[in-house]
Amino acid sequence: MHHDVIVIGGSYAGMAATLQLVRARRSVLVIDAGERRNRFASHSHGFLGQDGVPPGEIAANARRQLETYPTLTWLEGRAEAVSGQVDEFTVTTSDGVPHQGRRILLATGVADQLPPIAGLAERWGKAVFHCPYCHGYELGQGRIGIIGAGPLSVHQAELLTDWSDVTLLVNSAVELSQEARATLERRGVTIEEAPIDRIDGHADVAMTDGRLLPFAGLFTATRTVPSGSLVEAMGCALEETPLGMQVRTDAENKTSVPGVFACGDVARAPHSVSLTVGNGAMAGAQVHRSLLWPETVQPVQQEKAAAS
Ligand code: FAD
Ligand code: MG
Repeated sequence: MHHDVIVIGGSYAGMAATLQLVRARRSVLVIDAGERRNRFASHSHGFLGQDGVPPGEIAANARRQLETYPTLTWLEGRAEAVSGQVDEFTVTTSDGVPHQGRRILLATGVADQLPPIAGLAERWGKAVFHCPYCHGYELGQGRIGIIGAGPLSVHQAELLTDWSDVTLLVNSAVELSQEARATLERRGVTIEEAPIDRIDGHADVAMTDGRLLPFAGLFTATRTVPSGSLVEAMGCALEETPLGMQVRTDAENKTSVPGVFACGDVARAPHSVSLTVGNGAMAGAQVHRSLLWPETVQPVQQEKAAAS
């Protein structure tokens, strides 16, 4: 079957886009590997009407509603390769089966690169977080530790002072200028220079000097990169943001490859379920528009090409 659109990534962004497209009675194949970025967290916060709901429940409910539309095909699996061009793309899944579509929408999300500290990865989404708006409130104003990860850590430490008392654990990962030190002091942030040995218990940070610093919760500014290698293999231009790498898109969700669109975390920052759903809904309408008016399928300029 030749689909109007193949959506790669069936989480919040991909499903929000798909909803617009199937409501226009367009045929959509969603291919989803089921590894949402927030799968490590028990509850999702800050998404209007769904505050405190388990992230998998929000996704499952959305999928149930989508599956009532007859033009939807859902495939659990991984897209391994995309070839062809506008109106005749082929997406090959891990089982080796080729799928044809006129447009590609990438909603593949990002992966978090975590600081390499013993005990951190197991606590990711449970006691170690990155987004204060998502998980700050639940710490009940208990003491917060910021695991130093780079230049953004100073900003993160300052921001978190609006939730509680904050300690910045520099851990040789943050360069503190005199100005940054003064700002942090003004905000009442405690600065810990000793290296971290590991994280124990709920969120107890064991320092190499033998001290154990207990926290209600920890935050760290992760660097994000597009999940997997698909977007790079497809030749989509990437761009650097303060949070990491993302696919370059224009206001119409177009990438640098004609007929290939992108939405959600992989295409825009900052990252949250609300923002990704909004961007996905917009992408669905833009992809639909490109099917109706094919002359609008002009890709976003590559930076180098634009400059020369
Ligand atoms: P994702 O949800 O990451 O989904 C991408 C999907 O694409 C996945 O299902 C993946 O398997 C699939 N995929 C990737 N590559 C392929 C491929 N090649 N083939 C097929 N499928 C593929 N936000 C909030 O608003 N509130 C919160 O409380 C909150 N808590 C969070 C907690 C943690 C620990 C983390 C890390 C993030 C949290 N977020 C929260 C942010 C939120 O998870 C993201 O903003 C959101 O998931 C982005 O949605 P998305 O659809 O763009 O990508
Ligand atoms: Mg998605």
